[in-house]
Amino acid sequence: MSDMNRRSAFLDEIGLGPVWVRRDGGTELPEIVLDAADDLAPSLPAAEMLAVVDSAVAAGVQLLASSVWSEEGAATAMPTPHIASQAAILPLAMDWPELRQTVAGCTVCGLCDGRKNTVFGVGDNQAKWMFIGEGPGHSEDIQGEPFVGPAGKLLDNMLIAMGLKRGENAYIANIVKCRPTDGSGRDRPPTADEVAACLPYLQRQIELIRPTVLVALGKIVALSLLGLDLATPISKLRGSVHRYADRPLIVTYHPAYLLHQLADKGKVWADLCLAMSAYAQAGS
Ligand code: SF4
Repeated sequence: MSDMNRRSAFLDEIGLGPVWVRRDGGTELPEIVLDAADDLAPSLPAAEMLAVVDSAVAAGVQLLASSVWSEEGAATAMPTPHIASQAAILPLAMDWPELRQTVAGCTVCGLCDGRKNTVFGVGDNQAKWMFIGEGPGHSEDIQGEPFVGPAGKLLDNMLIAMGLKRGENAYIANIVKCRPTDGSGRDRPPTADEVAACLPYLQRQIELIRPTVLVALGKIVALSLLGLDLATPISKLRGSVHRYADRPLIVTYHPAYLLHQLADKGKVWADLCLAMSAYAQAGS
């Protein structure tokens, strides 16, 4: 089958055959794909859904091989940020119960003051996929689970579109485990110091899970993990396979951003295709 036919088959299978967006440089990408999960899930038996996903993953490699994403997506060695914090030496050899207990009682940074709950992470402890968000918001702080509410629902749909499910072969965690708030009690991004203090916990989670691929959800996460300047636009990070903790790291938009920028769903699908491609290549 030619690349073009594979691409057509992929788009047909996810229900996007005739929908295209013409990008600068002539690359064609699907406009909105995430809704395909909502469309497919109720209409297909589980076995057929898995077949669609398997085919999409396989075809996604071909799709990306001829797209702008693969040209920008050659593996890029990125620096690992230097972490100097009290927490940096703490979780190195901890097992799951000890790590969870340590996070629950952690007072290493000031975010402990306002929290109702630490938000440790959720999912399959042996997941091949790990999705990393910024930090807990109001609902997450109350429930003690990452990505609940509308942004969490959208993330769940993203997982379904990839053939994944919260708790099954996917683990979801944040770079800080306590909710950052501003002086008015509103959510805010974590500071560099807060990230440095908390990052060792995430690093230990990665060591314990040993995922095949990491997906950074949002600019703050990507910049924090890759040790890049805050001025770096996310557009320079998307579309490339970075490395973190000796694993492929793909950068995409935060689901909360997508809730307000629905037109960027197609870009997120392109990022997820790149992640599936990286996953397939890492496993081959
Ligand atoms: S954000 Fe992380 S380092 Fe700071 S108190 Fe919470 S668990 Fe500890």
